This record gives sequence, C-alpha cells and structure tokens, in this order.
Amino acid sequence: MTDTALMPIPGQIDPVPVARDITPREDGRVDLIGLPKLRIAELFAQAGLDPKQAKLRAKQVFHWLYHRGVTSFDAMTDIAKTMRPWLSERFVIGRPDVVEAQHSTDGTRKWLLRTADGHDFEMVFIPDADRGTLCVSSQVGCTLNCRFCHTGTMRLVRNLTPGEIVGQVMLARDALGEWPKGRMDFAEAEGADADEEETAEYTADGRLLTNIVMMGMGEPLYNFDNVRDALKLVMDGDGLALSKRRITLSTSGVVPMMERCGEEIGVNLAVSLHAVNKEIRDEIVPLNRKYGIEQLLEACAAYPRASNARRITFEYVMLKDRNDSDADARELVRLIKHYKLPAKVNLIPFNPWPGAPYECSTPERVRRFSEIVFEGGISAPVRTPRGRDIDAACGQLKTAAEKKTRAELDRLAEEKQAALG
Ligand code: SAH
Ligand code: SF4
Repeated sequence: MTDTALMPIPGQIDPVPVARDITPREDGRVDLIGLPKLRIAELFAQAGLDPKQAKLRAKQVFHWLYHRGVTSFDAMTDIAKTMRPWLSERFVIGRPDVVEAQHSTDGTRKWLLRTADGHDFEMVFIPDADRGTLCVSSQVGCTLNCRFCHTGTMRLVRNLTPGEIVGQVMLARDALGEWPKGRMDFAEAEGADADEEETAEYTADGRLLTNIVMMGMGEPLYNFDNVRDALKLVMDGDGLALSKRRITLSTSGVVPMMERCGEEIGVNLAVSLHAVNKEIRDEIVPLNRKYGIEQLLEACAAYPRASNARRITFEYVMLKDRNDSDADARELVRLIKHYKLPAKVNLIPFNPWPGAPYECSTPERVRRFSEIVFEGGISAPVRTPRGRDIDAACGQLKTAAEKKTRAELDRLAEEKQAALG
C-alpha cells in the first residue's frame, strides 16, 4: 500500500486536493507512467546519470513508453543492454490493474480497474462504424452528487494521478493491440540491437481507438492539473499522438476552470447542461447553485477556440417529466441562440440504476424533443445506449458491488451535505 489513501468527501462543490505526480512504491522504484520527458530526465539525473546522458535517455525512454507502449525496459532495443538493468532496478512501467474486463454483444468493452492503493474505477470503449471512443475516468467517485448519476453516490473520492489517467488509454491500446510498430528516427544504434525493429510508422488509419472522452467517473475540472498533464502526454506527437480534435472533456459546469481548460489543454468541450431553468438544474446538477446557467453559458461563449468547426456539445440527459417538455426544448434553443454558441446537443436517454430517483423519457418524447431542437437549427442526435447488457453506459459507470438502496443513497447524500459544514 502506498500513502495515497482515500480521503473523506470534502464537500459537494470543493475540489479534491491534487495528488503528487510520483507515487513511491513499496520496493522504492518509481513508476514512470504519467511523467513528462523533463521529469524523467530529472529522475535519471538524480539517479546518477550526467545531465546530457539523462536527457538523451529520457527522450528514448519517453518514446518507448508512450509512443510504442512497451511494458518492459528489456524491450527498449536501442538502449544499450547494460543500461536496461540499471533502469529496471530503479523504475517501473505501470498500468492500472484490471479487476474485470467485460465485452458486450454490441462490441462495447468495459474494464473495472484498480489503483496501486486499491481503489476501483472504470473505463469503457465504444466502437462505432467510423470511430472508436474511449471513455476515461478522472476521479474515483465524484464530489458533485448529480441526482441522476450513479458515480455521484459513491462514498469516497480521490483524484486519479496523471499516470492513472494516461494509463487507461495505454491499457486500452494494450488490449486492442494498437501500439505502432516502427523505430524512432533518433534511434541510437550503438550498443543496441536496433535491427530488430521494423520501419513501419504509426498511422492514424484503421485504428480502433480514435477518440477520447473524459466522461467516465469524476469531474475532470476538479482534477485539472492531473487531467491536463495526462492529456498532454496523450496529445504529444512523440507520445500517444492523438489529436486534440479527437479529445473531448466533459464538465458539469466548473465555470472558473473552463477558460484554463481551453487555454492549457485546448480539447473540445462538452457541458452537462441537463436542464434549462434554475429550479430543475439546481435539483439535477447541484453545482448549479454555485455556478448558474447564465454564468455557465457565458463561460461557454468565451471558451477559447470554440467555433463552428469545433462546436461545444451540450449533454442533456432525458428524464421523464423533469426536463423533457416541448417548452424545455424551445428554451434550450433560445438559450443557445441568445449566447450565440456554436453548439450541438447530445440527447442521452437516462440509464437507470437501482434506486435512481428518475425514469427515462419515453422514446416518443425524446424524438419530439430532438425534432424541436433540430427545427431550431441545432443538431440534436439521440445517443443510442450502448453496452446495456454489461451496464457500460458511459458516464454511468458502476460496479455490481456498488448497488445500494434508495434509502442508503439518501443517507449518503446527507452525509455529503453534512461534510459541507
Ligand atoms: N463529471 C463530468 C464528466 C463525467 S459524467 C460531467 O458531469 O460532465 C459524463 C456524462 O454522463 C454526463 O453528461 C452525465 O450527465 C452523464 N450521465 C451520468 N449518469 C447518467 C445516467 N444514469 N444516464 C445517462 N447519462 C448519465
Ligand atoms: Fe460527477 Fe458528472 Fe456524475 Fe455529476 S454527472 S456526479 S459531475 S460524474
């Protein structure tokens, strides 16, 4: 066990303290996954390499870790054989532990993962005809208590580290067999068996995993630094090399962090709106009591780099008789137009969980709602539920062990409220 124990929930709307980038292991070795090139070079220098060597080795190791996905220093064929044991005595190449992997009949895959200190979180892969989307978690649990969301009912919360976040993408590439083959052009031939390498380079074509959405467990903007650092590794051309255009971060509306998200990460933004008036949104997304709809939409209008080519996605979960009337749909159109937002709307049929206080809108209601928004000039596709047989709906991640009664959920919600003080 390491010292990253779970903390009690600090309150419904307060950020969870940020974990450190390095989690020391029991055997004293350091996990390199989650660290940027410069940090790896620093560690190599601290371990005794001269600065120039440290920088060169860090560059090589970085490429092997993030671009090629190797899980052993022995596989780093352009690093001298004598150097490899030096690395493996001091460092490890970690992955989250897989507790369970499920495969749906529709191709959706879900993993229950475990951190080194024993906390479970989930990841989902959703293949489509033209893309494959990995739904990544940013926290174990969530402090925000949205009433329709199962994650919000979890008792304890901790931020995932950059390594645990980027580790999900790496694990998915392991599972899908999608690491590129080929050698880096700065490969150092001396003392290395570089001729083992093929020269095929990494291409974007024909891959299964093409998109990432930060829509798993947790509120990514309450774990901003770690999410940013992880996504930088995902976007790094010498790292996982996924374009920022293919990454979407979903927030329930942490207004003060949205500008930084655009500036420092630069990925697409999705906003979990779910309601168009204060009363209902206060109930469904309690963060609304802190950052209201107007403030949220102003932050959307100011989101760096939003344009018609890069529209903001508004997520709208369809809850029977709560937020699904014709008037709600028209108000949604009015708001988006009023703030002149380059926007699209994703209508998400509510995915019920045991004890949930809502029902899903009828298919006819969802269709009508979608039509009204569409007639208002805004695209509003209905997200088809996927992986229902394995309970894998993205954003409704849960484990069977987590099933609770409504009474228990209410009690937990009260405990969380009490923690607010
Ligand atoms: N915390 C962030 C990202 C994770 S939630 C956020 O709230 O945006 C990702 C998406 O899944 C959100 O739009 C959320 O509203 C949705 N979601 C959560 N529970 C759901 C459920 N039971 N049925 C349908 N969608 C759900
Ligand atoms: Fe947290 Fe998002 Fe779930 Fe709300 S919908 S509780 S912000 S994970």
